[in-house]
Amino acid sequence: MSKAAVDLNNLPYADGDFYGFEQLLSEKERERLQEIRDFLAKEVKPIAVDCWNRGEFPMELIPKLAEANLMSPVRNQGYSNVFAGIVHAEFTRADASIATFMGVHDGLFTGSIEALASEEQKAAWLPDIYAMKKIGAFGLTEPLGGSDVAGGTRTTAVRDGDNWILNGAKRWIGNATFSDWVVIYARDLADNQVKAFMVDTKLPGYTATKIENKISLRTVQNADIVLDNVVVPHEFKLAGANSFRDTNKVLKVTRLAVAWQAVGQQLAAFDVARRYAVERQQFGRPIASFQMVQDQLVQMLGNTVSSMGMMVRLAQLEDQGVAKDEQSALAKAFTTARMRETVAMGRNLLGGNGIVTDYEMAKIFADAEAIYSYEGTYEINTLVTGRAITGISAIV
Ligand SMILES: Cc1cc2nc3c(=O)[nH]c(=O)nc-3n(C[C@H](O)[C@H](O)[C@H](O)COP(=O)(O)OP(=O)(O)OC[C@H]3O[C@@H](n4cnc5c(N)ncnc54)[C@H](O)[C@@H]3O)c2cc1C
Repeated sequence: MSKAAVDLNNLPYADGDFYGFEQLLSEKERERLQEIRDFLAKEVKPIAVDCWNRGEFPMELIPKLAEANLMSPVRNQGYSNVFAGIVHAEFTRADASIATFMGVHDGLFTGSIEALASEEQKAAWLPDIYAMKKIGAFGLTEPLGGSDVAGGTRTTAVRDGDNWILNGAKRWIGNATFSDWVVIYARDLADNQVKAFMVDTKLPGYTATKIENKISLRTVQNADIVLDNVVVPHEFKLAGANSFRDTNKVLKVTRLAVAWQAVGQQLAAFDVARRYAVERQQFGRPIASFQMVQDQLVQMLGNTVSSMGMMVRLAQLEDQGVAKDEQSALAKAFTTARMRETVAMGRNLLGGNGIVTDYEMAKIFADAEAIYSYEGTYEINTLVTGRAITGISAIV
C-alpha cells in the first residue's frame, strides 16, 4: 500500500458528529447551521493560522460577522440553546480565537446587558451591539483577583452625585484594546457590593494595554486595563447589577458556552488528526493502519462524543429553563479536561508536524490551554460541583 487508501469525504462519519446530535435540531436550524459553516469555511478558516502567528485580530472580519447576523441567537433570534451551542462549537472548530471574540462580545458583554440592564438601557444600547456597530468587552478579572474575584474585587466605585468614580485595574480583558465599550465590575465602597458599569473606552482616565507574548488564543487581543478616576454617569450603571449574585447570572450562561468551545476544539483536533493519519505514510502504509494510531483516534472520538452528549443535554435543560450553576460548572470542568487529553493525542499523532502551526494542530493544542483556564479554572468548577453534591464548600 503506497498511497492514502481512503477518501474521508465518502466515509459515513465524515463530519465527526458520530452520534448524529445535529438531528435534534429543527430543519430551519439545520439549514442555518449549514449557512454558518459555509461562512466560517469562507471567511474564518483561511485567515485563522496567519492571524494567530502574527498575534493580530482581523478587524476586517467584524463587518462580515455583522452581515452574517450571528448575534444573540437565543435571546434575540429565538433559536434553541442546542442550536446556539452547536454553532459556538462550529466557530471554535474553525478558530478558537474568533470563537472567543464572539464569546466575549456576544456572551460576556452582551449577556451582561441582556441579563442586568434595565429595559430602557437595553433599548438604548442593544441595537448597535447586535448590529456589531459597537464592540464590547467584559472586565471582571483583576491582576490580584482571579479565581477569588467574587470576594476579591478591588476595583472601586464611589457614587458622586449623578456620577460614579471608578478606580482600579483589570487583567486579561478580551477585545479591550479596540472595543467601544467595556462592562466593568467594581465594588461600591458604600455597601461593599460588586456592581457593573458600561464604560465608554474613550473616557479620560481609561487605558487598555495589550498583553503580549501569549502562547494561546494569540489572535484574541487581551488587555491590562487601568481605571484612574474614570467618571461614569449614573445612567451607565447596569440597573440590575447590585451584587456578585447578579454577575453569576451572566457567568452561568457563558460557562456553558466555553464548554461548547471544548467540544469544538475536540472536533477540530479530530478533523486534523484523522485526515493526517490516513494521508501520512510510514513503513510503506498510512499511519492510520497501525492499531495504536486507531486507538488514539478512537479515544479522541470518544472524548468528543461524550463531551457533546453532555452539552446537548445541558442545552436542553437550559431550553427548559431548569439548568443549574453546578451543572454548567461540571460541564466546563469535564469537557475541558477531555479536550486537553484529545488535543494532546492529536498533537502526538502529527509527530513533529504537530508542533508547527502550518499543520493547524499546534494552534489547536495551544488554544486549549486558555479555554482550560478561563471562565473558572478546572479546579474552581470542580469545587463548585463538589459543593453542590456534598453541601460543603471547599473553595475558601
Ligand atoms: C486568554 C484569556 C482570556 C480571558 N478573558 C477574560 C475576559 O475577557 N474578562 C475577564 O474578566 N477575565 C478574562 N480572563 C481571566 C480568566 O477568567 C482567569 O484567568 C481565570 O478566572 C483564572 O484566574 P487567574 O488567572 O487569576 O488564576 P488564579 O486564580 O491565580 O489561579 C491559579 C491556579 O490556582 C488554582 N486555584 C485558585 N484557587 C483555588 C482553590 N480555592 N482551590 C484549588 N485551586 C485553586 C487555579 O485553579 C489555578 O490552577 C481571561 C483569561 C485568559 C487566559
